[in-house]
Amino acid sequence: MSFNEIFETYSWEETSRSIYAKTSADVEQALTATKRTLEDFKALISPAAAPYLERMAQLSQQLTLKRFGNTIQMYVPLYLSNECNNICTYCGFSYDNKVKRKTLTSMEIMEEVAVIKEMGYDHVLLVTGEANQSVHTDYFKKVLELIRPHFAHISMEVQPLDLSDYQELTPYGLNTVLVYQETYHEEDYKKHHPKGKKSNFQYRLDTPDRLGQAGIHKMGLGVLIGLEDWRTDSFFTALHLNYLEKKYWQSKYSISFPRLRPFSGGLEPKVVMNDRELVQLICAYRLFNEEIELSISTRESIAFRNNIIKLGITSISAGSKTNPGGYAVAPQSLEQFEISDERTAPEIAEMIHQQGYEAVWKDWDMNLTR
Ligand code: SF4
Repeated sequence: MSFNEIFETYSWEETSRSIYAKTSADVEQALTATKRTLEDFKALISPAAAPYLERMAQLSQQLTLKRFGNTIQMYVPLYLSNECNNICTYCGFSYDNKVKRKTLTSMEIMEEVAVIKEMGYDHVLLVTGEANQSVHTDYFKKVLELIRPHFAHISMEVQPLDLSDYQELTPYGLNTVLVYQETYHEEDYKKHHPKGKKSNFQYRLDTPDRLGQAGIHKMGLGVLIGLEDWRTDSFFTALHLNYLEKKYWQSKYSISFPRLRPFSGGLEPKVVMNDRELVQLICAYRLFNEEIELSISTRESIAFRNNIIKLGITSISAGSKTNPGGYAVAPQSLEQFEISDERTAPEIAEMIHQQGYEAVWKDWDMNLTR
């Protein structure tokens, strides 16, 4: 059975109702369960779990320490292009946003790589918009060939590709692909993606299946928090994760929690998630799944990022620039979204150290399997 077939058996409204109907007894049961189910996850993300945050945080911390030790993986995004043929209501790179477009050349990429290496990074996340005439599989191959000698781990967050594209890119050193569904609410998805290939909800929903079939080492899931009810969207993400883990058990998985951030053109979030709720969600994922990697970007504030280190997170970005050429080539060009935590990578590493954790720059695991 494909995820799509499972997804079709769920109704957004019913799922939402059942999350909001969870009680303290359901939360208590979820907290004491040895193996937590999707129903337990619903209870943990429900409003009924709010008074249990401290307990959830303690459990999340223990489980994370048991599986990952006191380490935090460091990664940094490398924006290769802001060209994009899609209209997305929440993004500064949207086609209808009149900004200067740029796709980095090989020489410019290497200038960026030099700065990123200087910052100490060994794990890079390649990011582009969706412009198939300039940012396509051949371009990605060229980039991977160019930068592979410089990094132990390469992740990619670009448009969803066909299965054959993923199969072509894997031998070039592509380790991880992140593809966020943005929202699992199909009608609202269409409202936020009115034009371009991204408006195909189904193709995006099927992407993790194509990644699994291509045997990708790790895939990242998530939604853009603020587009729709975060509890319901997070349940569907967990449902997707559950399905993928069973079917593509050789792959590893990560979840990210991007909250809608200001950008040039600005979309107000439909739903605002406060910091306590984000902590609740992160802890709920950890309690639901002890293996999952949980990632926090520089979208979040300094205070939040300092506090979340010990509560379940396993990877963090720092010193990020969200515009192509932002590190060395064109530092003043338009960003995809505003950064909230502007501290440098060494400053973040020091903060992690102060909390008794170790910042890990290298993905040793990948090196050993090469
Ligand atoms: S979110 Fe992605 S696809 Fe949409 S406009 Fe931004 S870069 Fe393009």
